[in-house]
Amino acid sequence: MCRTAIRHGALVRDGRSLYAEYPFLPGAESLLGGETVSVRALLEDPSYDRARSIGRARVLAAADDPRATRDVAELDAAEPEVRYLSLLFDRIVLSAAPSSAALRRWAVAEAKRSHGRLSEVPVEELLEVASRLGVPIEPRSGDRVAFRLADYLHWAVPIREADFRLARQEVDHGTVVVGRVRGARIIEEAVRGRLAVPVPLAEDVRQLVRQREAELLDDVARRMPAPVARSSALPGRVRPELFPPCIRKMRRTLEAGENLSHAGRFALAAFLHRVGADFETIVDAYRGAPDFDESITRYQVEHITHRDGGVGYEPPECDTLRSHGLCFREGDPTAPSPADRERDPRCFDPHLRHPLQYYRLRGGRVVERRAPDEGAEPTAPAGAPDTPATPARPRSPGRR
Ligand code: SF4
Repeated sequence: MCRTAIRHGALVRDGRSLYAEYPFLPGAESLLGGETVSVRALLEDPSYDRARSIGRARVLAAADDPRATRDVAELDAAEPEVRYLSLLFDRIVLSAAPSSAALRRWAVAEAKRSHGRLSEVPVEELLEVASRLGVPIEPRSGDRVAFRLADYLHWAVPIREADFRLARQEVDHGTVVVGRVRGARIIEEAVRGRLAVPVPLAEDVRQLVRQREAELLDDVARRMPAPVARSSALPGRVRPELFPPCIRKMRRTLEAGENLSHAGRFALAAFLHRVGADFETIVDAYRGAPDFDESITRYQVEHITHRDGGVGYEPPECDTLRSHGLCFREGDPTAPSPADRERDPRCFDPHLRHPLQYYRLRGGRVVERRAPDEGAEPTAPAGAPDTPATPARPRSPGRR
């Protein structure tokens, strides 16, 4: 007998339509009017067939494309209770999956789905959703909204677009004031963060879910991007053990399935190209990204590496990486390896200006290329085709 159950509070009638649109909000369980649904019932009871069917469709759509470009049939027409239960079903099933990658990818898709609405609704609805998510924002003149500084920093950091950097925002008395659309994008991140946290499941429940939804989990695993290439999988002439702390951190971030900023994605592709990694190896480096998309990644890596007949873009210099918060010369306290947690004295050499210089000084081989012309701007690999590019200033380390 499965003992884990989901408890439901009283129905909040005035929140019903809000919960129907945003069933991930705390309190959305009130849609069930105080009913209690056990995990076993959610998995087996015929009365929840429709919720399971829609839930499976949402999971598979996210596995195929985390940008949520594919409509899920029946979702729009589903009753609020069914929408809520289908989302709950997804969270439970993906929390029981052997890897958390599918849950993170699904969280990206669901957050993007909600963003589609949040970016168009009146600002009052945005304020309401934000407040219920625990990210309170205040209205400001001209359809703008103000975030608490700490909230802004917390949720804007994973966003890759350079326009979200704090240096480009209006900071006013401890708040960050942004336009409504940009505010909706920040709230999208808060939604993603909420949904990407696995539901705690007892081991017997986990086994039950895996058994009942084995077919779905197998299907998801087949549709997910192949596992990310590990350090040992890089071709022989590339020596990841000599990579500078910034590049090592970028690779760890993607390998852990976390988001890497636009600037980081661009820098990594350009760096790997210059140290001799082949095209497939560079593409593989992004497979762990929660919004990984094979065709977009290939297109963007090609754009970065094939420029000027294969010269490619120059990776950014240390100063640029530092300004993007991508320099880890002081060490990365979250790194599993003690060596990565420590300060790297090589990075404090006053003559060091470029990650490629670091690699070369340690004995790594850098492929020399002529300096590219100024021209088309690069885009970062993996996902988000709507991401505006941040042009790296092409400059050869050999000319420093
Ligand atoms: S100093 Fe330069 S090479 Fe070293 S971690 Fe920072 S950006 Fe990378």
